[in-house]
Amino acid sequence: MFKLVLLGPPGAGKGTQADVLGSKYGIPHISTGNIFRDHITRQTDLGKQVQHLLSRGDLVPDDVTNELVRDRLARNDCAAGFILDGYPRTTDQAKFLKRLARITAVVEIAVPEETVVKRLSSRWMCACGRAYGLVSDTPRKRGQCDSCDAQLFQRNDDKPEVIRHRFQVYRESTQPLVEFYKGENRYLRVDGAGSIQDVTKRISDALVRHVAHVVG
Ligand code: AMP
Repeated sequence: MFKLVLLGPPGAGKGTQADVLGSKYGIPHISTGNIFRDHITRQTDLGKQVQHLLSRGDLVPDDVTNELVRDRLARNDCAAGFILDGYPRTTDQAKFLKRLARITAVVEIAVPEETVVKRLSSRWMCACGRAYGLVSDTPRKRGQCDSCDAQLFQRNDDKPEVIRHRFQVYRESTQPLVEFYKGENRYLRVDGAGSIQDVTKRISDALVRHVAHVVG
């Protein structure tokens, strides 16, 4: 089964696609951002330690993040495969992951910066990880999640000045991973424009071609 990494700038749709693909392939969607936010909500030691970093849009140190992912990938539900969303974000993390698992493919969801800034400013989230928009992908009931009925909230790092900083962090720390994975022949790039279904189809098609190529 697939062991996937979704790459792409904030707001590219990684979380949404990871959810859809996770259900489609029956493998867990692992978002380090969601795990950190859950710790912050519960005010665990880790949550208290990282909350200021998340609210500024800065990265959590590699050793903390790597350990979290190592524990998560060691759980039984990951044996058959998984989808990582928001990890790795630095070359050190990518090297760490390489020692942990044999990744099938790294899919970059490519979206122009102007599009994602707009998307993020109007994004509403559920604690379960689902994201909604104001114009498209709206919830059936206003302010309420379609999957679990919980109340939606806006992420406090989805403010314009923090969004800009997150982009800068992405360009500086995460963009270099594209070259890293191209060198490993695992890199796939799909256009992230259009509907959720369009993007899911592009990713699934690219994966099928990639796996056929690797196996064939
Ligand atoms: P995300 O939900 O993926 O946009 O992540 C939200 C925030 O969580 C980021 O801005 C970072 O502060 C932190 N974070 C998530 N994943 C990582 C990671 N792989 N490495 C470092 N920090 C991370």
